[in-house]
Amino acid sequence: MPGTTQRSLLPLLTVLLVAAGCDRGNGVHEIDDERLVSADRDTANWLTYGRTYDEQRFSPLSQISERSVNRLGLVWSRELGTTRGLEATPLVVDGVIYTTGSWSVVYAIDARTGDVRWSYDPQVPRARARVFCCDAVNRGVAIYRGRVYLGTLDGRLVALDAASGARVWEVLTVDTLKPYSSTGAPRIANGLVLIGNGGAEMGVRGYVSAYDAERGTLVWRTYTVPGDPSLGFESEAMRTAAATWTGRWWEGGGGGTPWDAIVYDHELGLVYVGTGNGAPWYRSLRSPGGGDNLYLSSIIALRVSTGEQVWHFQTTPGDNWDFTATQPLMLADLEIQGRRRRVIMQAPKNGFFYVLDRETGEFLSAAPYATMTWATGIDPKSGRPVESPSAFDEMNPVLVSPGPSGAHSWQPMAFSPETGLVYLPVRDGTVFLHRPDSTWRPHTTKRNDGVNRRYAGSLLRALEAAPPPTGRLVGWDPVQQKPRWQVDLPVLVSGGVLATAGNLVFQGRSDGWLVAYRATDGIKLWEFDAGTGILAPPVTYLVDTVQYVTLMVGWGGDVGLINPPGLGPAKPGFGRILTFALGGTARLSAPAFGHDTPPNPVQTAKASQATISEGRALYDTYCYSCHGIAVVAGALPDLRYATADVHRDFEAIVLGGARASLGMPFFGDLLSTAQARAIQAYILVRARESATPPS
Ligand code: CA
Repeated sequence: MPGTTQRSLLPLLTVLLVAAGCDRGNGVHEIDDERLVSADRDTANWLTYGRTYDEQRFSPLSQISERSVNRLGLVWSRELGTTRGLEATPLVVDGVIYTTGSWSVVYAIDARTGDVRWSYDPQVPRARARVFCCDAVNRGVAIYRGRVYLGTLDGRLVALDAASGARVWEVLTVDTLKPYSSTGAPRIANGLVLIGNGGAEMGVRGYVSAYDAERGTLVWRTYTVPGDPSLGFESEAMRTAAATWTGRWWEGGGGGTPWDAIVYDHELGLVYVGTGNGAPWYRSLRSPGGGDNLYLSSIIALRVSTGEQVWHFQTTPGDNWDFTATQPLMLADLEIQGRRRRVIMQAPKNGFFYVLDRETGEFLSAAPYATMTWATGIDPKSGRPVESPSAFDEMNPVLVSPGPSGAHSWQPMAFSPETGLVYLPVRDGTVFLHRPDSTWRPHTTKRNDGVNRRYAGSLLRALEAAPPPTGRLVGWDPVQQKPRWQVDLPVLVSGGVLATAGNLVFQGRSDGWLVAYRATDGIKLWEFDAGTGILAPPVTYLVDTVQYVTLMVGWGGDVGLINPPGLGPAKPGFGRILTFALGGTARLSAPAFGHDTPPNPVQTAKASQATISEGRALYDTYCYSCHGIAVVAGALPDLRYATADVHRDFEAIVLGGARASLGMPFFGDLLSTAQARAIQAYILVRARESATPPS
């Protein structure tokens, strides 16, 4: 039986060869198109953002299972010296973790020990923080043919040598005079590196770019919204789109920035892109004559070779509420009404869970996965939502659910082919005060969301009095379009999800707990206090036959800095990377963070009530998105605790950029000295209001 022997030896030989390659550190050179297409069989590694091109985030590994997970323990932790949000999905090749931290810094880390092999800091100018909507975050790298690809916050695409971290090439993907940013993980598709951008809140025009992975040359660029028609259209898709806009939309950028989901379908040769909200947020400001405003808040399918648009599906026509459709896209083959369908699934911010045919873009089904008041239902043929009459009142304010942080944001969902469920992090019952600023005009130096921040009416009080929203992990049946189970969480914001063949679902939370649930019914089986709030999704892989789980821990991001009411327990703190395995016995020692006593104001505001009100309005325009609503900070410095030195140097810091290198931008072009002093007065009033009353 020599043939049998040879066949049975082949897998062993493969294992030995892979192990040998691993020792030489050459494994990353073998990550080619074939390896990426067959990533599902490569259970030892985590090769792409969503593990496979399907982006299902399901691992066939089962060493850590519902029976053994009670023995799961920490193997190592590594502090990353940041207090900002960590959102990356680590990639793992042959025992080396490739991940990103704050300010787009890349780390290559030994999975067995946590030792850093190399790190690469692209030196993003810290003062550029002014144009980031949602913290100095990054969601990870791509790996291909021995290189690591990084999108930097300031819009560069960088190729690094995977063995040394040395830069091979770098290209600028955006106009740096405009408030673009880039936080998403690049994706590899057929020899191309794909990268999107963010900045719709700030006022830009979205697009996705494809670069030659070897040389870094631009192969195609596809816009998501039309530009100024007098300059001509880049494509027929843009000409079609322009007919759905009115007014002079291009002056505010239009928006539609594809800042997260970009998924490659190698079978169909398509790239699916989720597009963002409008710039500004409100249709009445952006496109005063109405219209659907294609391709805002849409899933668009592009031909991978040319970037030409093949189909589109708009989840929120004429988006009015910051309802991005940039949320994760997931491919699967599902049996629907007796027919095998190649589907694409998404739970965008607007609260509907969508299932589409990914070959044609045909709408198959949608159902609400969270409370919504903006729509009363969905047209079963077209998939077009039925907009509620109460969701919009021209320039007048209205209250709407979900809120602008969405019923689900970028936190990845996972799908288990074994249970048939999508595991979805949900923020249920968030509320949005829709309040357009009728005086808004496009400008180049501050936010272009068009929000009237001086509005102080009964709806604002109703918003502040609204019942707290609920965070939830849902086991969603995408065929039946309903939850099979759900777990109410003690916090609003929870992290991305991992599902495994061990019948497990892993997910972290804002209060710092990492939890494993049974995939079939949501019963909690294991938990670990990671010391700081969690946003990122865990990954799992094998090294030397041991199954590991690795996770980035760091609080911040979209709501982690703003620190809104109703968030529930959130734990700002120092960021770290953790790795677990069965029998792990390491102890986590998390450095202390924050203040455990009330503020003790160093001085009293000497300002009129009018000045303090002015300071509050200015704070709510320029400061709150990093230092928190009502000067109660999340992950960044809480200004109620500002020292005498900070107050003495206030003008130099705020107007002169004295702390720009630490990430505190310069506002000298936007604020006068009197305005800076008004903000300072408001901060001092808030410090006094929060202080212990004198005894
Ligand atoms: Ca947005």
